[in-house]
Amino acid sequence: MTRPVYARLDLQALKNNLAVVRRAAPDSRVWSVVKANAYGHGIERVWNALGATDGFAMLNIEEAILLRERGWKGPILMLEGFFHADDLPLYDKYRLTTSVHSNWQLKAIQNAQLRAPLDIYLKVNSGMNRLGFTPDRVHSVWQQLRAMKNVGDMTLMTHFADADSPQGIDEAMRRVEQAAEGLVCPRSLSNSAATLWHPEAHFDWVRPGIVLYGASPSGRWQDIANSGLKPVMTLGSEIIAVQNLKPGETVGYGSTYRASGPQRIGVVACGYADGYPRIAPHGTPVLVDGVRTGTVGRVSMDMLTVDLTPCPQAGIGTPVELWGRDIKIDDVATCVGTVGYELMCAVAPRVPFITG
Ligand SMILES: *Cc1c(COP(=O)(O)O)cnc(C)c1O
Repeated sequence: MTRPVYARLDLQALKNNLAVVRRAAPDSRVWSVVKANAYGHGIERVWNALGATDGFAMLNIEEAILLRERGWKGPILMLEGFFHADDLPLYDKYRLTTSVHSNWQLKAIQNAQLRAPLDIYLKVNSGMNRLGFTPDRVHSVWQQLRAMKNVGDMTLMTHFADADSPQGIDEAMRRVEQAAEGLVCPRSLSNSAATLWHPEAHFDWVRPGIVLYGASPSGRWQDIANSGLKPVMTLGSEIIAVQNLKPGETVGYGSTYRASGPQRIGVVACGYADGYPRIAPHGTPVLVDGVRTGTVGRVSMDMLTVDLTPCPQAGIGTPVELWGRDIKIDDVATCVGTVGYELMCAVAPRVPFITG
């Protein structure tokens, strides 16, 4: 490796996290959500470690085809369904389960020439107001689909807007009940937050994503600190230069940080072009040689700077953890005003991945 930045994936942690999900929802089957290239981890790198799952859920047809080509024979759920009617031959060929959320899709399924019926996830809008039929329409749509020769097994699905917030899922569950009235239907309702915190919503299949990768659905690590979940990704690098600032000297673009006394600063080979957020403020936590310290100054494209005061032994070549086992991605995200999801999805293609 030339430049020292890397993303290391702990595949044992991934297996552990799937086992944590199974313990949380022991009577449900599990769709492991691997959309967005497995939340930035690389679907190709992680799918085997998740091989004990019951199915994989995603939304890019290319990712689904990749899984089939690598040999996954189990169920694949396309969370947003087909985007155009002429995607359906691929759904047929690769045996993909499709979400159905809009009227136009009914006609498309009706008219498709398929080798065999497709399994369907009928999506009910339980309050998110992105995809899905309103509860009062579900009965009629269900009956229409049920009557089609192109339709195989059917499941009722929703996606919660507030499973990770104090608002909770009571109102959404009421809408699901309204939609399901008079139907005998398997259900898949729970994202990570509902899988951990709302067992009344588990039903037949849960759909965890973020917890598999060891971050919190709420964005707060303390909410999952006792769950047994372990971070999968470590974003790491090394110190490539050291600066000894005199009192009053500044560091980085815009001179946004000024030393109040003499201060040792480490320059780390990682910047926003690697996926580390540029808006990270001074004091965003970083681990240097096993010691917790913080960033100083602005994050630049290829470098960021850290305070070496708590770790005087650190120098050129000293290892740095930007996030991972010790520096929780949720804690970095909180400093930046976002959630771990966004940071892990944004690790740049130029960062080499190491799996182990
Ligand atoms: C992304 C997604 C999930 C997983 O959400 P997490 O919060 O990562 O667990 C589940 N269901 C649907 C429909 C999704 O789009």
